[in-house]
Amino acid sequence: MTEDLDKSLWYHSCAESVTAPSLMGEVVADLAIIGGGFTGLSAALHAAEAGATVCLIEADTFGAGGSGRNVGLANAGLWLPPEDINGHLGARVGSRLSGLLANGPNMVFDLIDKHQIACEPVRNGTLHCAHAPSGMKDLKRRHAQMTAIGAPVELLDRDAAVARVGSDQVHGALFDPRAGTIQPLAYAKGLARAALAQGANLFENTPATSLERAGDRWIIETPQGRISAPAMIVATGGYTRKMAGLDTPKVVPVHYFQSATAPLSQEQRSKILPGLEGCWDTALVMSSWRLDQAGRLIIGAMGELGHIGSFVHQGWLQRKLARMFPELADVSLEHTWHGRIAMTVEHLPKILQPDPSAMVCFGYSGRGIAPGTLFGKHMAEALLTGGTDGLPVPPVTSHSLPFAGLRGGYYETGATLMHLVKDQL
Ligand SMILES: Cc1cc2nc3c(=O)[nH]c(=O)nc-3n(C[C@H](O)[C@H](O)[C@H](O)COP(=O)(O)OP(=O)(O)OC[C@H]3O[C@@H](n4cnc5c(N)ncnc54)[C@H](O)[C@@H]3O)c2cc1C
Repeated sequence: MTEDLDKSLWYHSCAESVTAPSLMGEVVADLAIIGGGFTGLSAALHAAEAGATVCLIEADTFGAGGSGRNVGLANAGLWLPPEDINGHLGARVGSRLSGLLANGPNMVFDLIDKHQIACEPVRNGTLHCAHAPSGMKDLKRRHAQMTAIGAPVELLDRDAAVARVGSDQVHGALFDPRAGTIQPLAYAKGLARAALAQGANLFENTPATSLERAGDRWIIETPQGRISAPAMIVATGGYTRKMAGLDTPKVVPVHYFQSATAPLSQEQRSKILPGLEGCWDTALVMSSWRLDQAGRLIIGAMGELGHIGSFVHQGWLQRKLARMFPELADVSLEHTWHGRIAMTVEHLPKILQPDPSAMVCFGYSGRGIAPGTLFGKHMAEALLTGGTDGLPVPPVTSHSLPFAGLRGGYYETGATLMHLVKDQL
């Protein structure tokens, strides 16, 4: 199992239980998809709904990558605010992308509703919280940029934010009513169930080992089988396993870990996030917190577990929990897990098109629930119809990211130092 997915709360509280066999023998399809996270599964579902024959292979189990271990905040946009996106992509492309992503949570919650995905959907908005008075500057800037494109966001002062979060450690917040929270692993598995019901061929425990363009088809080899298809999507994100024949795009790996408490009492739940918003903050070394359906508080922060500095991160998280919610100072943490966020330098996702018949999508930079669902759908449509105009971002034919590993190390060292020397929120 990929990097201890079974340590995650999401693994234990997942109400969706779909499984699929390993691929044995040859499958011929219209569209081959590699990777069973939100991107690949959304592509499979939408392609199958459009009547295409689809074959998706997942090296591990559905959602075993970033999709099954994230915070579960289904946001209406990317990490960057709209003008910063325009600064990188130009106003025309940037505005179109922001427009599509504004509708991202609608797409996610509509799919959940349509396919009755049992993934604890709560659409009560998110709170981007100021970790210090200085954090309000960032929130005001985001508020101005977002309202300028019609986003219904609301800036909350300190008193309002404290009341919504149930902690005096926040100094204001930006409320986005379009967003919400989900159980992310269950959402991924629910997409897989829906895709299977539409006739898609899905396989688990089936890594692609090599890819080759032979004539007018892609031949994808797996340990005990092969797929032959005229078009291919590679959606392996930050969990890419080596495939001969594809120079997989480099991303900066940024580690993020989370812990979940035991279910809180009704009295605690009446004070802590009574409105069930999902939260993250403006700190340089960011953290997040939210409740799940059972009333567990899930708190997370940047940092890698599984190396010598992990006790620094975990100790810091326990102290942060106690500072934010003193009534939870002695509560036990029942699950602790981590995941790898795939960042690009620009903090923007990319679609690499090494050949007109193939797309490789990566780099949601910590915002992949709605964007992954959206990009998967649009890539499938583009490859099946042959037109790339509808893609959320124009495809690129090359991508380089020198020193990706070193850049990831820089984030991890920064997070460790911050957690070691500073009791900042
Ligand atoms: C800790 C954490 C917190 C996050 N929080 C949020 C959040 O709150 N909100 C949000 O919107 N986003 C969040 N994200 C980002 C989001 O989870 C990702 O952007 C999203 O899951 C990416 O989906 P994906 O389908 O592209 O990739 P993944 O979910 O990573 O799926 C890729 C899959 O490809 C498979 N694979 C790899 N190589 C091969 C191969 N050779 N053959 C076959 N299969 C292969 C992997 O096993 C994996 O299952 C977070 C990410 C992390 C890690």
